[in-house]
Amino acid sequence: MPLSDWPNAVAHVDADCFFAACELARSPKLRDRPVCVMSSQDACIVAKTYDAKAAGIHTGMPVWEAKKLLPRAVYIPADFTYYGQVSDKLFAILARFTPEVEVCSIDEAFLGLNGIRGLWRKNFSEIADSIRTTVKNEAGITVSIGISLTKTLAKIASDIHKPDGSMLIPGDDIPAFLAGVKIKNIPGIGRNREALLHKFHIFTAADYSRADPALIQRLLGKSGMDLWHELRGRPIFPVQLANGPPKSMARTASFGQLSSQRDFIAAHLTHHTTRLVTELVRKHYLAQGLSVFLTLKSFASRAEETRFGDPSANIFDFSRAVRDAFARLYRPGELYRGCGVIATEIRPSEERSLDLFGKVDKDYRNERLMATVDTLNKKYGNHTVVMLAAQAVAKRKKGPRFRLPMFEVN
Ligand SMILES: [Mg+2]
Repeated sequence: MPLSDWPNAVAHVDADCFFAACELARSPKLRDRPVCVMSSQDACIVAKTYDAKAAGIHTGMPVWEAKKLLPRAVYIPADFTYYGQVSDKLFAILARFTPEVEVCSIDEAFLGLNGIRGLWRKNFSEIADSIRTTVKNEAGITVSIGISLTKTLAKIASDIHKPDGSMLIPGDDIPAFLAGVKIKNIPGIGRNREALLHKFHIFTAADYSRADPALIQRLLGKSGMDLWHELRGRPIFPVQLANGPPKSMARTASFGQLSSQRDFIAAHLTHHTTRLVTELVRKHYLAQGLSVFLTLKSFASRAEETRFGDPSANIFDFSRAVRDAFARLYRPGELYRGCGVIATEIRPSEERSLDLFGKVDKDYRNERLMATVDTLNKKYGNHTVVMLAAQAVAKRKKGPRFRLPMFEVN
């Protein structure tokens, strides 16, 4: 299917070594030295410059180990308030180029670029250069930019000429570009999916985009098909502007091992549910639907859908629904790889009907509760406050320093 060069245009902008770059921006005297940023208790490395990376330092490495490897580097405690300010500046600059800015993390955004060439009387390559120069001059950091027809292609492209580079992939260039991209570098293809696709001789993004859609559907379901279309230049994921909630929000993970243990899997589900509800509350969203799924050893997954009577971001509603769904999904003796929860039919919480004051009051208290949990976890580290049933997960991932029993999910 031949594509005209730019039927749709999306950019992915990603800051290079963001935290370390912020430190360099405010202390130019550090310029010629490797810089490592340390986590809040100075325990591990959370960011590093390219020269520190070249010396073998990676994110998550204990500080003592990094110092042994590279004693001459500068080790700086993280200052997230300051990084937030630089991030605000970055997004404000991007918003000058296009009104369509989707912020995806502290240092990454997608930009909708349709109609933007006419506005600036520049081609996309010049627009990318102009964005990089403006960010460098005004925020003191560098960004890398990928521009293509879909978000998936743009995101892959932004990684190619890092740091401080841009990569354009118009429609005609897509097949040649995909031939050089390994499937593990496609966003949304994790280790499990990579292993599965390898079995079917799909090794590159080009193999993936040329695969029989029926095979992709059978192996990876709808999300796999979404990627298949996106890689072929057909946009499935729109640039999401700040004023509309996403269609769905998911929290999922593989166990990193196979398990048939009921308590182990239930703990993971509870952990995902807590994170999902926390995120809904933080963003002032309610969900009408909930999907709970288990991934089987064969990589297939089995799901149960629930619809709440009223849209909810209430941890008790979610826990009850997850518990019931799990009871229907779980079969003793069967081996599972992972699990997850997905909130669907999301809407802003202002739309909540006010006819039942008791219910509103209950929801309000729930929101306050989840917001407090969120604040404590942000302040003292994730898993400081967890639901009882999720303790098994919290214990596995670096022990929390103290734990408050909150509510039991029976
Ligand atoms: Mg980055």
